[in-house]
Amino acid sequence: MMAGIFAARNGHEVHIYEKNEKLGKKLFITGKGRCNLTNAGEMDTLFSSVSSNPKFLYSGFYSFTNEQAVDFFEDLGVRTKVERGNRVFPESDHSSDVISAMSRELKRLGVKINLHTEVKQVLAEQGYINGILLAGGKKIPADSCIIATGGVSYPSTGSTGDGYRFAREAGHKVTALYPSLVPMEVKETFIPELQGLSLRNVDAVIYDGKKKVYEEFGEMLFTHFGVSGPIIISASSVMGKLLGEKDLRLSIDLKPALKFEQLDQRVLRDFEENRNRQFKNAVDKLFPAKLKPVMIERSGIHPDKKVNEISREERQRFVAMIKNFDMTLTGLRGYNEAIITKGGVDVRQIDPGTMESRLVKGLYFSGEVLDLDALTGGFNLQIAWSTGYLAGISVH
Ligand SMILES: Cc1cc2nc3c(=O)[nH]c(=O)nc-3n(C[C@H](O)[C@H](O)[C@H](O)COP(=O)(O)OP(=O)(O)OC[C@H]3O[C@@H](n4cnc5c(N)ncnc54)[C@H](O)[C@@H]3O)c2cc1C
Repeated sequence: MMAGIFAARNGHEVHIYEKNEKLGKKLFITGKGRCNLTNAGEMDTLFSSVSSNPKFLYSGFYSFTNEQAVDFFEDLGVRTKVERGNRVFPESDHSSDVISAMSRELKRLGVKINLHTEVKQVLAEQGYINGILLAGGKKIPADSCIIATGGVSYPSTGSTGDGYRFAREAGHKVTALYPSLVPMEVKETFIPELQGLSLRNVDAVIYDGKKKVYEEFGEMLFTHFGVSGPIIISASSVMGKLLGEKDLRLSIDLKPALKFEQLDQRVLRDFEENRNRQFKNAVDKLFPAKLKPVMIERSGIHPDKKVNEISREERQRFVAMIKNFDMTLTGLRGYNEAIITKGGVDVRQIDPGTMESRLVKGLYFSGEVLDLDALTGGFNLQIAWSTGYLAGISVH
């Protein structure tokens, strides 16, 4: 849609072929229906939030910046606001306003929108694009073609990965694909007991053997299969590939504000106040109710043991467990739950200043179909806007 708008503003005759019954089905569900349309952070933040191939985006991000994205939408009548973490949303909190504004602009510019129209093939001859083939068998001649088919995550929105096939058929390399910004599965059998539990202000560290591969402070939650929530979703973007190859260890510090000794003192105080009670009745203040049975079970201390009979070693082991609540990560959840697809059309075969293929003249790519992905916070849509803009102004 972005590419279409800019190609049309440049005077081209533009046709959009969309297999769904409407435009922007994925856009509709972004930001939980509110559409976090970009991030108002500094340029440095934009680049450092891109997980794959940030350098390729140099031209794109500078040609169509986050500020330009905001101005673009404001000009189309979408008032915006900035929230925590510089996330930009429509003031109305409705993603549908973003879609309507773009649809109106496409209409104003005379772009022909063909809904319920699936593209089957991209046609090229002797290194030049010459059109597309529709599902019904109709050939549409064209001087240029922009592939903006998205990734393979949330396929119900229409992103079924057709663009990867089009790219391969045109001779392009497509790098390995992974679900990303996605929850993770955990091996331990206590996980279903914790379903629905949300932990705030915890420190999560992920280890590959002894090596620390990720660390973040924030919020996470337990699901029936494993873990999710902001810090887990972000972690999947950074070490998802590794998790595809082997199990990793997730270690949660449930009390990051307290050093080991401080926490030990705190537990000791709690124990002294409850010296004649059973262990299971002396730890209520330490963690949320759902976590209590799991922590008691894992402590190795009998739940009925009198607190004054707990040894120093037992208590310290218990404290260590609160500082390192360990789990085994066994894999990522699938594309149905992934916010983004990692991997895609190899950017080395794309001109970063125009988004044109280096192999086929007149063939352009934009958005998630490319091997580009970023953290949550509006960065993925900024990638779509910037690359769509470049492709749109570059078609000739
Ligand atoms: C639940 C969820 C929430 C998200 N929230 C945010 C957020 O708040 N902020 C953010 O920055 N990013 C967010 N993202 C990521 C963002 O939505 C995507 O990165 C972005 O939509 C990619 O844009 P795109 O145009 O490349 O592809 P898409 O938005 O996937 O659009 C591709 C379009 O191509 C059509 N298509 C595919 N194949 C064919 C074919 N053969 N013929 C015809 N049409 C075809 C599809 O139907 C689809 O409409 C979210 C993603 C998900 C899944």
